[in-house]
Amino acid sequence: MTKQPLVVAEGVRKVYPKGVEALRGVSFEAYPGELVAVRGRSGSGKTTLLNMIGGLDRPDEGRVEVAGRTVTELPEAALLELRRDMIGFVFQSFGLIPVLSAAENVGVPLRLTRAAVAEREERVRMLLTLVGLGDHMNQRPYELSGGQQQRVAIARSLANRPRLLIADEPTGQLDSHTALQIMQLLQALVRSEGVTALVATHDPKLITLADRVLELHDGAIMQETAA
Ligand code: ADP
Ligand code: MG
Repeated sequence: MTKQPLVVAEGVRKVYPKGVEALRGVSFEAYPGELVAVRGRSGSGKTTLLNMIGGLDRPDEGRVEVAGRTVTELPEAALLELRRDMIGFVFQSFGLIPVLSAAENVGVPLRLTRAAVAEREERVRMLLTLVGLGDHMNQRPYELSGGQQQRVAIARSLANRPRLLIADEPTGQLDSHTALQIMQLLQALVRSEGVTALVATHDPKLITLADRVLELHDGAIMQETAA
């Protein structure tokens, strides 16, 4: 591939207080339009790695680059901007605001970037339609199933047209049928929107949908395989 990588991790090391070495020098690259699964048992360092890539936490050693910017050297304000403009986050627990409708939840990032109201409404409608919830725009999270809530969260993560999607066990709270649908949705979005996705999961069925698999074991990449 001659394309520039969107994500570069080089020798990323993280030691938590009490001496837990959560990452022991992790290096990899992810390219535009790739769906990369991060697999590993609970405690293998998946969340820690994704947090370092997304600039939610800083490593003790090593460097991370996203879209040509060195995340590990950015001051806090620039990091905030990078996260807002370049990276979409999806979490196991959905993280929706309970008092807001699906549409309002998806609109939150667009308010942060001060998008014009008409543009915001148009993009919200487009995104919710994209994830199959065009008919559920005005429902609150508690009026939606778990799978639907995660679809709203995915729509929200795409609001500002990120280059990178970081999903930490996005199907961890869903039954296996819904989990497969969500993973298929992520795969389709990677294809249609051209984003790069890093998805932590330990579900073997979902891993088969990835383009590539990073296998983490005790904080180190054991192997990199084509899925
Ligand atoms: P995974 O997401 O694969 O389950 P984590 O990245 O959450 O793994 O954790 C990797 C290791 O780091 C584990 O041993 C975990 O107990 C430890 N760890 C994670 N977060 C913290 C923290 N905030 N403080 C101390 N240890 C932590
Ligand atoms: Mg985790």
